[in-house]
Amino acid sequence: MRYSEGADLDPSGVQDRRGGGFGGGRGLAVGGGGLGLVGVLVLVLFQVLGGGGGGTGAALGQLGGQLGGLGEGQTADNTQLEQQCRTGADANESVDCAVVADIESIQDYWSGVLGPDYRPTDTVFFNGSVRTDCGGATSGSGPFYCPADRLVYIDLSFFDTLQQQFGAEGGLFVNAYVIAHEYGHHVQNLLGINQQVTPGETGPTSGTVRLELQADCFAGAWANHAETVPDESGQPLIAEITQDDVDRALDAAARIGDDFIQQNLGGGTVDQDAFTHGSSEQRQRWFSTGYQTGDPAQCDTFATDDLG
Ligand SMILES: [Zn+2]
Repeated sequence: MRYSEGADLDPSGVQDRRGGGFGGGRGLAVGGGGLGLVGVLVLVLFQVLGGGGGGTGAALGQLGGQLGGLGEGQTADNTQLEQQCRTGADANESVDCAVVADIESIQDYWSGVLGPDYRPTDTVFFNGSVRTDCGGATSGSGPFYCPADRLVYIDLSFFDTLQQQFGAEGGLFVNAYVIAHEYGHHVQNLLGINQQVTPGETGPTSGTVRLELQADCFAGAWANHAETVPDESGQPLIAEITQDDVDRALDAAARIGDDFIQQNLGGGTVDQDAFTHGSSEQRQRWFSTGYQTGDPAQCDTFATDDLG
């Protein structure tokens, strides 16, 4: 994956709440920087809540309001990103700047698809832990979308976790897939799709799994258009996505499938009734459906009996 060298980057879609100096402070992840079993469970739980229906989100939001005060002072400071991430050349050099470019490209894409129905939203970069309108979260939660405040949250150390704990090949396009998946949840929220899902429901054909597979498909649809979708200046931010990039995204999709996680990072046995995100094969299939068709209308995981 290569970004267009001369393209202008705009970090205004990020709220950098990492605080405390430049470059350091990445090591606060729960479980010694890794995603231990507890981390995985928290991840699954939180994403069920975070990605689930508005009811849960709203309830958690109220709770967040009652707990207000905690986490204040975690204000955004984009100074570093503004200095560091100016052009596509910077995105080719720095993971942080690449994510800035991804966020722009993904939102430019959805603005084109949905027109005024698309409302841009920010991604929060955090270190260690963060407060949200869906409650508090730690790095162990993995990246997530909070419907109550409509923000995407990520501790960028998750990209290292994907490689080190999950054994993924990784790479800039894998990171972009992760971000595009979370923005897929934002699109679902804007369109009211998550209201079709009963919060906490699990299992291979559950609404929760359908929601997650659709977010994968939406990520693929963006990826199909990533080399052509224009930014504000009319130039695509992304110059090239290779077959190797796509293969790496499919590798990552397989490693965050419920069956892979249960077998390799959980208790060792596969329990389909506990599925929240879909199997490795399903996740690959729906990313591919989006990527090959480039058509979000093909991502209606709620309308099919055949989830793969
Ligand atoms: Zn998700």
